[in-house]
Amino acid sequence: MTAMTYVADLGQGQTLAIENAETQTVITWETKSAGQQQSQQMSLSLGRWSASPIVFKVSSGFILQVEANQRSYYVRLQANSISLLSEVPLMLGSHEIPLRNIAVSSRKVPEMKPLEPLRMGNMSMQMEPMQMSMGEMKMSMATSSSAIARYCRNCGREVGEHDRFCAQCGAKLN
Ligand SMILES: [Zn+2]
Repeated sequence: MTAMTYVADLGQGQTLAIENAETQTVITWETKSAGQQQSQQMSLSLGRWSASPIVFKVSSGFILQVEANQRSYYVRLQANSISLLSEVPLMLGSHEIPLRNIAVSSRKVPEMKPLEPLRMGNMSMQMEPMQMSMGEMKMSMATSSSAIARYCRNCGREVGEHDRFCAQCGAKLN
């Protein structure tokens, strides 16, 4: 699954990244001052976002608004610390800072997800290993030919899938 990530340029060398991965909201605030880079990160379990987050510039810092669980959460970014507010903050004279939606987080390598089994009514099919089931019936196929073993009925030696005669005793194979 692709995590939803938004980034904002807060000015004066400050950047903000907000990511919704599963039910976690991960806030990363990077500040640069006098050539020094600082990074604050906070992970909050707010649930899945129901709307895009909003960032406001207020006189004392920044307020981040996240919509999840049918309510609004407010997070304050101020004096190098991130804190979840318990009540709706006063936002007099605030203005909204544009957020940019980036499809894939640069911090994470996207995960490879195994193929979902295909389902149609009571029939299901999946690859690797090939497997098919219909109601009570189930069929599966090995992917490598070495799993299909054939033996000579005369001497018991393992023979090739398409061999017509046993390589050891010469008996005819059917
Ligand atoms: Zn044989």
